[in-house]
Amino acid sequence: VLIPRPETEILVDLIVKRLQKVSLEKASLWDICTGSGAIGLALKKTFPLLDVTLSDSSSKALAVAKKNGKKHALDVSYLKGDLLQPFAGKKARFIVANPPYLSQNAYANSSLGLKKEPKEALIGGEMGWEIYAQFAQDLPGYLEPQGAVFFEIGYDQGESVPALFHSPCWVKKEILQDWSGQPRFFFLERE
Ligand code: GLN
Repeated sequence: VLIPRPETEILVDLIVKRLQKVSLEKASLWDICTGSGAIGLALKKTFPLLDVTLSDSSSKALAVAKKNGKKHALDVSYLKGDLLQPFAGKKARFIVANPPYLSQNAYANSSLGLKKEPKEALIGGEMGWEIYAQFAQDLPGYLEPQGAVFFEIGYDQGESVPALFHSPCWVKKEILQDWSGQPRFFFLERE
């Protein structure tokens, strides 16, 4: 799995601040492309009332998430499958994802290949933003009214990724920065 980065801690902190302001009774949260499970498990630990589901297309990754969930004695669900496909027919109040978002080039020019992380956890496609494009198409049908989405994105995707989410169902779109002032998070709210 991807080894969680400091940016992902910021993502969790930002989500925690938002969820503290709303009633979470019966609220569901899906962590898609969960990898190690770090995001969804940290949120379940912080908000025990949340109904949390972790999903990943890789059964090996899901096994790591399950191990981590067990270690922290957290009652969450696990689903194997690609992006929203395992959630067919369901709707969530909150969806969070830190999907693979590097382009082929960015990956090739980095030293990431030398590490033990699978490249499937890092490369989003030729351009990098392909997975967000898929989400942009599918997400509206999988969110409850006023549902929210929290994404981590690449520092160079602050314009390309929001441009993919042009459906009128999005009433709020925000880019937030990481500690080095780079665009790093993209939050959306549905009507
Ligand atoms: N930020 C990570 C890196 O550059 C990539 C994370 C991801 O693809 N989700 O190593």
